[in-house]
Amino acid sequence: MKKHYLLAPGPTPVSPETLLAMATPIIHHRSPQFAEVVAECRVGLKYLFQTKQEVLILASTGTGAMEGAITNTLSPGDTALVVRGGKFGERWGEICAAYGVNFEAIDVEWGRAVQVADVAAKLKANPAIKAVCIQAHETSTGVNHPVKELAELTKSLPGTLLLVDAISALGAFELPMDAWGIDIMVAGSQKAMMLPPGLAFACLSEKAWEFTKTATCNKYYFNFSKELKNIQKNTGAYTSAVSLVMGLRDVLRYFKEATLEKIFAEHQLMSKATKAAVKALGLELFSQEGASDALTAVRAPAGVDGQDVVKLLRDKYGIMIAGGQAEAKGKIFRIAHMGYIGNFDIVMIIAALEVVLNELGYKAPYGAGVKAAEEVLFGGA
Ligand SMILES: *Cc1c(COP(=O)(O)O)cnc(C)c1O
Repeated sequence: MKKHYLLAPGPTPVSPETLLAMATPIIHHRSPQFAEVVAECRVGLKYLFQTKQEVLILASTGTGAMEGAITNTLSPGDTALVVRGGKFGERWGEICAAYGVNFEAIDVEWGRAVQVADVAAKLKANPAIKAVCIQAHETSTGVNHPVKELAELTKSLPGTLLLVDAISALGAFELPMDAWGIDIMVAGSQKAMMLPPGLAFACLSEKAWEFTKTATCNKYYFNFSKELKNIQKNTGAYTSAVSLVMGLRDVLRYFKEATLEKIFAEHQLMSKATKAAVKALGLELFSQEGASDALTAVRAPAGVDGQDVVKLLRDKYGIMIAGGQAEAKGKIFRIAHMGYIGNFDIVMIIAALEVVLNELGYKAPYGAGVKAAEEVLFGGA
């Protein structure tokens, strides 16, 4: 049987413990037994989001929570400011357009982070902007945007919210919702949260909950006020994704036990090791600034198609990483190191990369990347 490895930015591997937690018999979503599980998840989610607010649990992928963030706080004809530095930034704009919300865009070169001054200038020029929409980590480029600094801007504007897509960020690096003043943070189960795809999360500040009272965008399923009332009673508005929530309880116990501090430090170390290794192989990072601890986006070397790196790893060696999307297709490949990934997974993927690069005609000395990774991960030999 062929061994498979998953180092793509979602879905990510799920631990055997969590898989077993999800294999327990289905319990009813309106039973006291399930209410107990939800009650525990509510506490664990507040720890993970670093918030006092309630975190809503939705049965959808992350995009559903993004859509809900728009429709629950804005109205047709409102204006949002969308930072587009990759595929997921574009998605914010597409959702606005679908609901008749006008948007101004700041187009950021792929591989770069938005300049805080550019956002400040837009907000100053148009005081009617009701929401700034951004990714904490733009997964298509491997770049973190300066969320903390952007929150400094929106905090002092009573009429403007900061909407943060933390789908590939939450659980991988520091993103304290309350301390920074983020108004809406959305997440998904299948990235650094170490769960299968199928759950989304949304958390709103008091300021954002105020906006929900006047928002008139059409909505039915993603009705945050209705979800809030239900989760406060330890249930959901509709049939909960019972098995996934069992898994959620399991990973949240792990987050609490291991502590966010330790988990973030582990991600940072794996990220440093991966980045040092690809540089030792003579490759360049795609991110020109704000390189994320959740993922390493690498420029394919001259003469090598990034898609071929991805395909060879997948088809010959059973290792799944990700290629470039849209305009970055063929130019880059992306190695995710988020969630249930350990130090020796990094050593494995770097070794595999050395092999496929050579097979594709790029001369990478065997062991050069592995050595650099090991030195970061374990200290000098
Ligand atoms: C994966 C991802 C999404 C989309 O999530 P789905 O779960 O596929 O809906 C959105 N934003 C970012 C930053 C992501 O990484």
